[in-house]
Amino acid sequence: MKLSFHGGVRTVTGSKHLLEVKGRNILLECGLFQGRRAEARERNSNFPFTTGEVDAVILSHAHIDHSGALPALVRTGFEGPIYCTDATADLLGVLLRDSAQIAERDVYYLNKRLPKGAPPIEPFYTRKDVEKTLPMLAVRSYDQTFQVTDEVSAIFREAGHILGAAQVILNIDSDEVPNPPFRLGFTGDLGRDHLPILRDPYQIDGLDALIMESTYGDRLHERGEDLKALLAGVVSRTVERGGRLIIPAFSVGRTQRVVYLLHELFNEGRLPAIPIYVDSPMASEATEVYRRHPECYDRKASEWLESEDILGFRRLTYRRSRSG
Ligand SMILES: [Zn+2]
Repeated sequence: MKLSFHGGVRTVTGSKHLLEVKGRNILLECGLFQGRRAEARERNSNFPFTTGEVDAVILSHAHIDHSGALPALVRTGFEGPIYCTDATADLLGVLLRDSAQIAERDVYYLNKRLPKGAPPIEPFYTRKDVEKTLPMLAVRSYDQTFQVTDEVSAIFREAGHILGAAQVILNIDSDEVPNPPFRLGFTGDLGRDHLPILRDPYQIDGLDALIMESTYGDRLHERGEDLKALLAGVVSRTVERGGRLIIPAFSVGRTQRVVYLLHELFNEGRLPAIPIYVDSPMASEATEVYRRHPECYDRKASEWLESEDILGFRRLTYRRSRSG
């Protein structure tokens, strides 16, 4: 067994961890490297391993720093399958198409500035590559073991990070590992207990080794329960001053969490009735995907959903275009 890391190491994007067992290659994550343009182009166009020799990808969740290089992997020879949960597959349709559009637009402007006669720059992938990638997604349920190769099986467990996010536990039954079966865990990005909407992360035990990325280093997060009180304080102070509040938020995960908490605060009468705008077509599309997957909600969100649309309450306007 051989394990090598090709991203998400000494940097927080471009996660790719390659596991080789009995000559078969399993790639955990295929993240896009995001950084300076030249370095990003170089790292997203060229893989440090032969992509045609990767037998399968297992994906923990849909965020681009974990999934965004999949179409480049396909463009350079990978033929599938890509294992992920149902909600992750649904989110990938939104995120990868958007990512390809950005890559194509970026190259369009670069090519406009090229000196006459210089060969045009190619995007590291296009929307066509995305449409080739999406049918390779092989959906697997949480908590159900599936076979990846003859020696390796896997199971997805709740990660509590974004919709569909999973921790991956691999069972490696081969003479290449000491005392088989060898249990290898990969957390992907982990959420915290008591965060809104999603279930709490599953507690894994009995592992022989664990792969974990630590984006936030040794920083301590505030407790999940305290977020609502913090948000209530900031919003009411701003409203009292007659101000407007702009909340920058990641489109997938963070936006839905903020909207959900505001909704709760309005219902509890802890905030006055003020209008809210979600100014991002991508966040609006991601919210639609959240709406389609109530099977990923925790008990409180599921119960609430029975009486109300938890992500689309009446004070809120989703803006889908840059104008109007
Ligand atoms: Zn993430």
